[in-house]
Amino acid sequence: MAWFQKTISLPPKSRGSYLVTDTVVAQLPEIKQYKVGLLHLFVQHTSCALSMNENWDEDVRADMSDALDRIVPTDKKGDLYLIELAPGETRWVTEDDKWALKREGINFMDITATPDLGTFGAQTTYSYPSAPSQQSIVEPLLSNLSQKNLRSNLEVFTAFHTRYYKSSSGAESSAWLQARAEEIVHDSGAKKHGASVSAFTHPWGQNTVVATIPGRSNKTVVIGAHQDSINLFLPSLLAAPGADDDGSGTVTILEALRVLLTIPEIARGEANNTIEFHWYSAEEGGLLGSQALFSTYQQQGRQVVAMLQQDMTGYVARAAAAGQPESVGIVMDFVDPGLTRFIKAVVGAYCEIPFVETKCGYACSDHASASKAGYPSAFVLEGEFKYSDPKVHTTGDVIDLLDFGHMVQHARLTLGVAVELAFTSF
Ligand SMILES: [Zn+2]
Repeated sequence: MAWFQKTISLPPKSRGSYLVTDTVVAQLPEIKQYKVGLLHLFVQHTSCALSMNENWDEDVRADMSDALDRIVPTDKKGDLYLIELAPGETRWVTEDDKWALKREGINFMDITATPDLGTFGAQTTYSYPSAPSQQSIVEPLLSNLSQKNLRSNLEVFTAFHTRYYKSSSGAESSAWLQARAEEIVHDSGAKKHGASVSAFTHPWGQNTVVATIPGRSNKTVVIGAHQDSINLFLPSLLAAPGADDDGSGTVTILEALRVLLTIPEIARGEANNTIEFHWYSAEEGGLLGSQALFSTYQQQGRQVVAMLQQDMTGYVARAAAAGQPESVGIVMDFVDPGLTRFIKAVVGAYCEIPFVETKCGYACSDHASASKAGYPSAFVLEGEFKYSDPKVHTTGDVIDLLDFGHMVQHARLTLGVAVELAFTSF
């Protein structure tokens, strides 16, 4: 008998290394007709073929499986997570299910560790100024917000392979961010008046970073963004530059912090209220870092009078292609109405572009954690949510797609909100 060829198939198995000799031989009865021959097995999946020639000893298969699990850890224990998709609507899912939901654009909070944080709609309300009044302080500083700084910070931040919250590079990017914030606080001279930067630690390794500028009272205004990124196809393995999501928000508030600390009264701790800048870890895991932090604040009885989250501040191409004017997107659902009204007035006073109202659903970003903990929160992003960056959560979320001029508008808004609320009496 000469050469012959046939296609065989193996039964599906979960990931691992298996001895398949018997299965292959059973499907090739023709082998009996050969005394001497050469068998070529062409495996149509490369990841499978990698281990095909490594099966001579049982230990080799165990080692191969072990190595794979270290490279790409999976939930071998079959762990389940409790997620909340809408207020009170919960479901137990695997980690893979979490990523699948996110790939479909469905937001959720992972409340496994924080089931008792609270419910949306039970926030304390405060009255905010009806109109901005700190123009004499803010206006001269607006031109100091630097596109160059935004870009150079974002270049470093996006050069980490991924800022996935469970990855080693995600821990490194967090350490870099903390050091950068510390440098800003140090250079401002505010340290001797009590300003500080600290790490709020989490069990997964990447820290939430908190910069605190004390005021005359402990009533606290929080400016937030999330520092982690994710590649939703293989989070532990694939690159996630996260330039827009949410590297842009991260550097936007970092630059606003730098300029804010050039105001002598703020740096000296003479404002009415304390201001904090938060860079949350693990937003992409279901708002894990912000929930842990606000849960702690709630237990400590901390009084947060306003929280503004910015998640994606740099992408405007799709809105422009649709003929829409460049605008700041103000989220109208699941936010504090009074704070949101005030932020619109701040856009009018300090930005060179208008705002546009938009919606993004429940648990859209970390402001949802603040709300659940009872703190009034608002959310601002790069424009209408439907025109936001389509490349988020992939290797394609890169700096080249972003507009630093637009990020400056968000930095102006951030500076305006921080100064106005720092001097408000609550
Ligand atoms: Zn984000």
